[in-house]
Amino acid sequence: FNVPIAVNEPVKSYAPGSPEREEVLKAYKDMYNSKIDVPMYINGKDVETGNTRTMSPPHDHQHIVGTYHVAEKSHIEEAISTALEARKKWSQMPWEQRTGIFLKAAELIAGPYRAKINAATMIAQSKNIYQAEIDAACELIDFLRFNVQFMSEIYMDQPESTSDAWNRIEYRPLEGFTYAVTPFNFTAIAGNLPSCMALMGNVVVWKPSDSQIYSAKVIMDVFKEAGVPDGVINVVFGDPVMITDTVLNSPDFSGLHFTGSTTIFKSLWKQIGNNIDTYKTYPRIVGETGGKDFIIAHKSANAKQVATAIVRGAFEFQGQKCSAASRAYIPNNLWEDVKDFVLADLKSFKMGSPEDMSNFITAVIHEGSFDKLAKYIDEAKAHTDAEIIAGGNYDKSKGYFIEPTVIVTKNPKYTTMCTELFGPVITIYVYDQEAYSETLKLVDETSEYALTGAILASCRYAIEEATTALQNSAGNFYINDKPTGAVVGQQPFGGARASGTNDKAGSAQNLLRWVSPRMIKETF
Ligand code: GLU
Repeated sequence: FNVPIAVNEPVKSYAPGSPEREEVLKAYKDMYNSKIDVPMYINGKDVETGNTRTMSPPHDHQHIVGTYHVAEKSHIEEAISTALEARKKWSQMPWEQRTGIFLKAAELIAGPYRAKINAATMIAQSKNIYQAEIDAACELIDFLRFNVQFMSEIYMDQPESTSDAWNRIEYRPLEGFTYAVTPFNFTAIAGNLPSCMALMGNVVVWKPSDSQIYSAKVIMDVFKEAGVPDGVINVVFGDPVMITDTVLNSPDFSGLHFTGSTTIFKSLWKQIGNNIDTYKTYPRIVGETGGKDFIIAHKSANAKQVATAIVRGAFEFQGQKCSAASRAYIPNNLWEDVKDFVLADLKSFKMGSPEDMSNFITAVIHEGSFDKLAKYIDEAKAHTDAEIIAGGNYDKSKGYFIEPTVIVTKNPKYTTMCTELFGPVITIYVYDQEAYSETLKLVDETSEYALTGAILASCRYAIEEATTALQNSAGNFYINDKPTGAVVGQQPFGGARASGTNDKAGSAQNLLRWVSPRMIKETF
């Protein structure tokens, strides 16, 4: 299985005057000022239902950048039946041909589609260009390239044979069709979930988030141009309950690949459980869900390093990462210094629209998210257990802007230490530097989630103690770093407990969920 060696796509600088900066700003302007009409994509055809909804950037919610068409039940049924029809040929397609398509998709994004996919992500998800480049360009390219390498490693994993018995495993796609449900927060995840299942020979019904239609459209354009055959990946928009009901009620449903909220994932799992007698095969269920990701500093840590981990971990990408740091435990000996560094850093942050490249913080995704964050901020303002030491202001008159907010609490179980907020808010608990072991216990017990976490310390005994005490508290555990920014091919990503099934995104382990191996023994 001689596939190209996967390499991480270098992140471009977008420095003032650079050609990439000019190009992305032009693409942004063009998209911003024209009205796009996004059809669904079923069986290789654009499907316009006439039932449309508008799309607006989160940083300018009165401005309409286009419309998209939403499905009736019959469209979902059509997506399922055409996927099953397409499966007849696609599941027999030699792996080299499938691979060629997705490697081409990676190169299309690296080249001609780069500015477009980044601009669409800036508009739809309000990411600044650096965030868009890391997500929509580099991470998606990395997923596409590394998945090919992981696939080849899987295929190479074969049993021993003898001279009179040849044993071999065929890594067959699942029987039936698969369902991808993708979130707004990463264009890369939206592209990875359907494409990695298709790479393994499956056919897919894909439902992107309503808040990410613009960039989903560009992903689909790339897949089309790369040569994904008709019916292999079908994109549907609209009412999540109707779409999911229709999909999960089909006897041919064979796998769910989900990234999104814990509540929704659990409800889908229950629905699949209730339908279990109707399916032809046990469906595979893979989900990456919520997080309440932590930073704990030991008294031996470097205060500046702790402050950087807090600021970058909590506020990059507006805190809208499942991995974002949202609770921190800082020992009292470091606190004054950490606080000064955090406050100084935050002073230099500008907030505003993503097309102004000096803005570090942009808008949160929609009004629902804005209102939820504002409510928790207001509660903290009024609560005796909480003190807001930075930020705390919000404004939705033009866009959904929430200032990066730092809450300090005396109560380690204060609401915002336990509840996932999914925005630029972190809560800090200052602990007695001699109570490190007890605090580790607290970190483990405070949250139902186990996605990411970080320990900052220079004392190796303290690092070892945290690594052991927090072994079930985070699927991705960082030592002397922020708990975000996993790179495909370097840190496979995923969590356990209420954070997901921990089938690491960007790994062979994940791809193995999308095959149903056939063992063949041939004797001579
Ligand atoms: N993989 C991303 C990171 O490590 C987070 C992905 C997510 O938010 O789901 O920061």
